[in-house]
Amino acid sequence: MSELDASAAEPVLEWDTHLFRMAQTQFEQALPYADVSEMVAERLRFPERAVIVTVPVRRDDGSIEIFPGYRVQHSTVLGPTKGGMRYDPEVSLGECAALASWMTWKCALLQLPYGGAKGGIRCEPHSLSLRELEGLTRRFTSELIREIGPQTDIPAPDMATNEQTMAWMMDTYSMQSGYAVPEVVTGKPISIGGSVFRREATGAGVVMVAEHASRRLGFELAGRSCVVQGFGNVGGVAASELHERGARVVAVSDVSGGAYDERGLDVPALHAYVAEHGSLAGYDRCERITNEQLLELECDVLVLAAREDQLTSANADRVHASLIVEGANGPTTIEADEILGERGIPIVPDVLANAGGVTVSYFEWVQDLGRLFWDRDEIRYKLADKMSGAFDRVYSISGEKGITLRQAALVAAIREVAAALEARGIYP
Ligand code: NAD
Repeated sequence: MSELDASAAEPVLEWDTHLFRMAQTQFEQALPYADVSEMVAERLRFPERAVIVTVPVRRDDGSIEIFPGYRVQHSTVLGPTKGGMRYDPEVSLGECAALASWMTWKCALLQLPYGGAKGGIRCEPHSLSLRELEGLTRRFTSELIREIGPQTDIPAPDMATNEQTMAWMMDTYSMQSGYAVPEVVTGKPISIGGSVFRREATGAGVVMVAEHASRRLGFELAGRSCVVQGFGNVGGVAASELHERGARVVAVSDVSGGAYDERGLDVPALHAYVAEHGSLAGYDRCERITNEQLLELECDVLVLAAREDQLTSANADRVHASLIVEGANGPTTIEADEILGERGIPIVPDVLANAGGVTVSYFEWVQDLGRLFWDRDEIRYKLADKMSGAFDRVYSISGEKGITLRQAALVAAIREVAAALEARGIYP
């Protein structure tokens, strides 16, 4: 074959982007330790299905604007796909493909009967009114009506989407079905079949694994200094959970910047301020710092709960934490992972640390399907049990193979999917 033909034979697939390559590199780094067949490895390298839609919305001024929307389903080997919907200017097919594959590993690691999916709309959510957001969400749901469903693909909230977004999705799907279908989404309001403790689940799970990891390092969280980047659903709850455990939350931040107090911040006061003003901007009861400074603070635990690509080769050598916990998806680049590994700073990876959200989403789906609801204590107990089982599995593989917690988490997850794929085989 001529050189020209050879390059033509390997076109770059549309999801082949920076974040997707990062997810693929992590997969390849774990693969040699997972002991799975090449058939399994090759199948799991790529998402099963990717959909692009265009979503028209009538703006408040009467004009029509079209937004691109995406849904990527990575694996249906273990069951229906599951994953968040985000509204963000950076949403792309590649970002969704990376996040969908991480969801596959997360569900498998927690031994939930799901594969991974992710989706969203490329938009600037804060520039849209509530009415416009509702229109956008309802039309997006209609465009995806053949892709989503309680037995096929179950959306949940993610960046800039919330209970209200899920309520609009559930209502749109139900209207087209002719009856209420609460089990089509998770992270809904409790009044329409949502689960108690779902809103808090991701942040609470982050702190549960932070507690296990710090104990393995020989310290308790109480009295220790903690820094939390991101003060939304995940970071806000993680900060509260740390505060309630007696840890000193010395700094938190959102897009508007960071708040810092060496003696420990008044976390309930920060929440009250954000509830009133919409963000941390203008909060003046402590020192203000930038997000860059926050990531470099000396602390015992650094929780990353904002977004991807936060620790990079540019700042990883200036991180002064004893332990890093990834509440966000993909916050540490491959280069930063390597630098932090060489410096001996352990990282509890996203697929383990933020799995509390999808775990309680699974509980929500099970409750909806059975029309039988559990109380908060029962859910918290079941979540703690799941998180602790997954943490122990990861920790023991990491010790046994001498690999990082990230590699160990992926090894555990890949093995779960591989066992199912080997049993099912490749159709036809
Ligand atoms: P969110 O929109 O509720 O909160 C995000 C927070 O991060 C906001 O406070 C925002 O201002 C802040 N932020 C954004 N960019 C920032 C930056 N560059 N520096 C500092 N702060 C910044 O979103 P969320 O649901 O809390 O999700 C956060 C991360 O956690 C995402 O990576 C998401 O995929 C992941 N995650 C969320 C859930 C969930 O249940 N919500 C579950 C698993 C993983």
